[in-house]
Amino acid sequence: MSHILIAEDEPRIAAFIEKGLRSNGFTTTVSGNGLETLSLVQGKPFDLLILDLGLPAKDGLEVLEELRGQGQTLPVIILTARDGIHDKVTGLEGGADDYVTKPFRFEELLARIRVRLRNLSTVKGKDQDILQSGDVLLNLRTRQAIVRGNVVELPVREFAMAEVFFRHPGQVLSREQLLDRVWGYNYDPGSNVVDVYVGYLRKKLGSQLIETVRGMGYRLKT
Ligand code: CA
Repeated sequence: MSHILIAEDEPRIAAFIEKGLRSNGFTTTVSGNGLETLSLVQGKPFDLLILDLGLPAKDGLEVLEELRGQGQTLPVIILTARDGIHDKVTGLEGGADDYVTKPFRFEELLARIRVRLRNLSTVKGKDQDILQSGDVLLNLRTRQAIVRGNVVELPVREFAMAEVFFRHPGQVLSREQLLDRVWGYNYDPGSNVVDVYVGYLRKKLGSQLIETVRGMGYRLKT
């Protein structure tokens, strides 16, 4: 059971996130200011922190800076209305793992949380760090793909989808399975998002890598 700390001073937003997370099986704690957030993290082993940037007492970037300064490796997803590129860069350089801007859909946040928690269990479980198929490697630690020796940066969901394929080589994966593993929630089954992302991966990793299995889904070539 993952325990998530929500640092958000707007009660309505905090309640919205809390309700959604609880109904998805998470345990939650809410903190309404930066100082309290710091002391909560120091006192308890949370699995992830959702951090609003505009917090009273100590703002989110300061909280992040202190946590990372103390060597805290807790995954942090910044949540904020500040969508300026400057804040994004500062947040990510300050050690945030991901970034969601308000307004947001709960499903968007949930998907990002799941990706972060999955990464964590991969590292914790001393899983294989490198997955390989032909001349394409996936480095699960750096979240990069290496195609014929060249590093290819993949956005979060493209990497997540590539990882699902590489963990199940030769196996046919249906659109529903891919939606569930990559987006982590009940996406509109009529959506073509899976096909679009398979297209991205083919373009970046090699056109022959993922085969279409008509009427069934997709398969990583072995
Ligand atoms: Ca705020």
